[in-house]
Amino acid sequence: MDFDLTKAQEMIRKEVRRFAQAQIAPVAAQLDETETFSAQLTRKMGKIGLFGMFVPEGFGGQDTDYLSYIIAVEELARVDGSQAATVAAGNSIGLGPIYQFGTEAQKQKYLPRLCSGEALWGFGLTEPEAGSDAGGTRTTAALDGDHWVLNGSKIFITNAACELSLGVTVQAVTGVRDNGKPEYSCFLVETGTPGFKAVPMHGKMMWRASNTALLYFDNVRIPEENMLGDRGDGFHQMLQTLDSGRLSLAAMGLGGAQGAFELALKYARTRNQFGQPIGKFQAVSFKLADCAMEIECGRNLLYKACWLKDQHRPFSKEAAMAKVYCSEMMGRVANHAVQIHGGYGLMKEYGVERFYRDQKLLDIGEGSSEIQRLVIARDLGL
Ligand SMILES: Cc1cc2nc3c(=O)[nH]c(=O)nc-3n(C[C@H](O)[C@H](O)[C@H](O)COP(=O)(O)OP(=O)(O)OC[C@H]3O[C@@H](n4cnc5c(N)ncnc54)[C@H](O)[C@@H]3O)c2cc1C
Repeated sequence: MDFDLTKAQEMIRKEVRRFAQAQIAPVAAQLDETETFSAQLTRKMGKIGLFGMFVPEGFGGQDTDYLSYIIAVEELARVDGSQAATVAAGNSIGLGPIYQFGTEAQKQKYLPRLCSGEALWGFGLTEPEAGSDAGGTRTTAALDGDHWVLNGSKIFITNAACELSLGVTVQAVTGVRDNGKPEYSCFLVETGTPGFKAVPMHGKMMWRASNTALLYFDNVRIPEENMLGDRGDGFHQMLQTLDSGRLSLAAMGLGGAQGAFELALKYARTRNQFGQPIGKFQAVSFKLADCAMEIECGRNLLYKACWLKDQHRPFSKEAAMAKVYCSEMMGRVANHAVQIHGGYGLMKEYGVERFYRDQKLLDIGEGSSEIQRLVIARDLGL
């Protein structure tokens, strides 16, 4: 076994950490407070190559392994959940399905812009009546000549209603299978197509500087060539995309936990009560010891899942384990980190409460903790 990262992976961690400290840390609190998605910051993240890292250079990507990309997301989340969300959603579930299932023409058309950070693509699965139950999709697509006509709506779609939004992958019902079950297919729907409306959602507790959208499709005509892959493959494409997406949500949990832990460690060393740093009290130092131990467990679990993916081996169960563990682990770490800060931990100025808030989405998005446990239990044959 070799637990060392490669030189290239170490370099990526160093560069992204430096970027996050210099460019994101100074503005993160303000963007969160004002609920502002920053196109400028997204472009900067594009310039240093954070979009399309695992995509071949021929399509504008960096051609790295998946673990390198996961390390980048981890480092962003160490500083700010919102920017990590923009990158994670822009890659794994945004441009990811186009890269994985798209035709050569679709890849040539969309990937170079998406890899540059000048444009973002959304992943349109969730609907008001179809959340955890991805098979509950009600959006329909009917063939009319050489066009598909889409009707329906999607909710909570990341990166789909900002000035950089180029389009969204939409799962729709395209018919009925021989076994009587719905047939799902996916479509690439470009922003600005008549009948397609994307409305930003506001009032989020977390990821407040990330763009979230409600989407409406009212007789939206999509050319046949904008179907993603083959007719009837939609559900499989979405589930496969979510397997990879879970690795990046796990990376957000891991990085967020690391960021909250570092703040707590620093505070425990400098805050004095009863004549000594609070870190000298065993009740505090044991909390930090638990955090360090859990972060180490999470990192090993997540990197192993990425390694499996990079080896082209099955990784669904490991991705589900990493996602649920790292998400919930960040919850425990952020809770300890706020506790160690005492009353100051509840003040925005100290920055630790943002980790506490940003964590909650990780228990819910891209398959809630309950759904991850279902995936793991199924693998156990239950
Ligand atoms: C900020 C944000 C960004 C998002 N980005 C995207 C995106 O880009 N694209 C996209 O498609 N979606 C996105 N989502 C949607 C997200 O994936 C869903 O919210 C999530 O899948 C849960 O669906 P739901 O909210 O409808 O909850 P529900 O499915 O209604 O679940 C409610 C509760 O019931 C539990 N539950 C449901 N079914 C079961 C079961 N079988 N067994 C046990 N418990 C169960 C759930 O775990 C949960 O606790 C985003 C959501 C948010 C908040």
